[in-house]
Amino acid sequence: MQRSIFYTYTFESSYMLALTNKKKLVERKTMTFWERTYLPAIAKGMGITFGHIFKKKPTINYPEQTRPFSPVFRGLQVLNRDEEGRERCTACGLCAVACPAEAITMEAAERLPGEEDLYKEEKYAARYEINMLRCIFCGLCEEACPKDAIYLSETFAPANYTRKGFIYGKEELLIPDPKKQPVEFAKARGLRVKH
Ligand code: SF4
Ligand code: SF4
Repeated sequence: MQRSIFYTYTFESSYMLALTNKKKLVERKTMTFWERTYLPAIAKGMGITFGHIFKKKPTINYPEQTRPFSPVFRGLQVLNRDEEGRERCTACGLCAVACPAEAITMEAAERLPGEEDLYKEEKYAARYEINMLRCIFCGLCEEACPKDAIYLSETFAPANYTRKGFIYGKEELLIPDPKKQPVEFAKARGLRVKH
């Protein structure tokens, strides 16, 4: 019996005591005739609506219109080529080690005689994959690369229906060849294209 009285007392004390003095008592006022018709509230709401009609729209008609990215935006990775179109990546693995999300996987291979026009270094990435579901677009892979072989572009991974579709291989990541596809290369690098 003693215990139940104690609990009741403490519960009521904590319930009643105000933590701050910001308490505001609200009075229940009876509505006026006009308030009961709701007409002033409707007119006020319509005023806000019409006020916004003539303002500049904050929305854009994507994908017909696109919003310019911030200069520091970090988007989808691109595997870079040199000016002769050779793959720059030497499969050193530094980007994979730097990646906090463990999103990068690669397999190295030795360049064979006759492949000098394909790969810049004696070793290259035969397989290079980035899991876009893991990637947090931090840019550390770009920072870590000693060969200027990877950079984050001003675009993002499009939607996909399967998890496998978000694992990007060399086919998706490699920049177009500047000799064979100069327009696509310039577009990927964000360069102005001369026609
Ligand atoms: S941007 Fe960051 S998370 Fe994404 S692959 Fe590069 S290092 Fe990993
Ligand atoms: S992208 Fe750069 S850091 Fe990553 S494996 Fe290739 S050369 Fe090394």
